[in-house]
Amino acid sequence: MSNLLESLQADLEKRQTLGLMRQRRLLDSPQAEHITANGQPFLSFCSNDYLGLANDAALVTALQQAAAEAGVGSGASNLITGHHRYHDQLEQALAAFVGKPAALLFSTGYMANIGVISALMGREDAVFSDKLNHACLNDGAFLSRATHHRFPHNDVAALEKLLQTSTARHKLIAADGVFSMDGDLAPLAEYLALCERYDAYLYVDDAHGFGVLGPQGRGSLRHLGLESPRLIMMGTLGKAAGVAGAFVAGEKVVIEYLIQHANSYIYTTPAPPPLSAALLASLHEIEHGDARRKQLFDMIALLKSELSLTRWHLLPSSTAIQPLVVGDNHEALALSQYLQTCGILVPAIRPPTVPVRTSRLRISLSAAHSEANVRALINALHAAERDIPAGAQA
Ligand SMILES: *Cc1c(COP(=O)(O)O)cnc(C)c1O
Repeated sequence: MSNLLESLQADLEKRQTLGLMRQRRLLDSPQAEHITANGQPFLSFCSNDYLGLANDAALVTALQQAAAEAGVGSGASNLITGHHRYHDQLEQALAAFVGKPAALLFSTGYMANIGVISALMGREDAVFSDKLNHACLNDGAFLSRATHHRFPHNDVAALEKLLQTSTARHKLIAADGVFSMDGDLAPLAEYLALCERYDAYLYVDDAHGFGVLGPQGRGSLRHLGLESPRLIMMGTLGKAAGVAGAFVAGEKVVIEYLIQHANSYIYTTPAPPPLSAALLASLHEIEHGDARRKQLFDMIALLKSELSLTRWHLLPSSTAIQPLVVGDNHEALALSQYLQTCGILVPAIRPPTVPVRTSRLRISLSAAHSEANVRALINALHAAERDIPAGAQA
């Protein structure tokens, strides 16, 4: 027998010595390029607010007006009396925007992934996941009780071998459209071809593609021109869209089935209706947001062309997620802390979020960043490489 609280304490102490302890910062400002964290001002490269919409005046006004008219609480689950007209309007607008017959709102992307995969898949089925998929896709596969195959990152041939030998009743390939810690894209066209060949379906988690990639920001699938009844997409609404929540879009039969079977949709109170009103305003900004996307991609190009380091390297990403791989946990923390002393916040991402010995700084860029902001980051990183001794401990 062992004492639970003592086990918890031992775990925390071990994390501390391994450089894996995680800490929250206290934010006292809106999410923007300049934030106040733990009482100090910082230039931030931390958020997924890729288009700078999280504190946009049009969204704030839409939320305030809807709250005055519709109140703040949803009051009951969707299947009782919680499904408000604002939710319904947003679902229809999202389906039309991504070019799918129907869409369904969830309170978070996490809830969408666990709800969809566990509803669509069962014991006789198989889920095929990229090794670098977001944790909630794996949790969804686990909850579904389906056989869970994990294939090496973006490895189409390895996935095909697994599909060839699978005797599962139904098969679902699950992948991030844009990988959250690497910033690279999944080979979705190749996956869709495998779906046709092996009678499988493709579930794309487009948390980091929606709003950013494709014509008017319609997402990774539209970016690649993919259209098929075998496709189901999930987009989150707390990243580029700047608010909170998520949606799943696909064939009408899929959406109707989820309303009947997805526990994380059924047994929960929906997000407040004013959030959907803010998201309708956000969708308008996204659709007319080519100038924001141009600014974002200009900042990505600036960082990639002018950052010149020898000890640490940027991964080959063309998206807003620009990971700088350091390797060692302590050195990644030391670099993150060095930048903090320069007034710049970039999070150090360590295992288990990323594989061991690939600790990194996850630089995320936004349309809210100016050229001067990005140059400040580049200069601080160049100074850090000169100033931080190899093998430094934070
Ligand atoms: C952030 C994220 C989620 C979770 O979405 P939330 O709305 O924040 O719960 C799911 N998948 C990926 C790839 C993500 O990056």
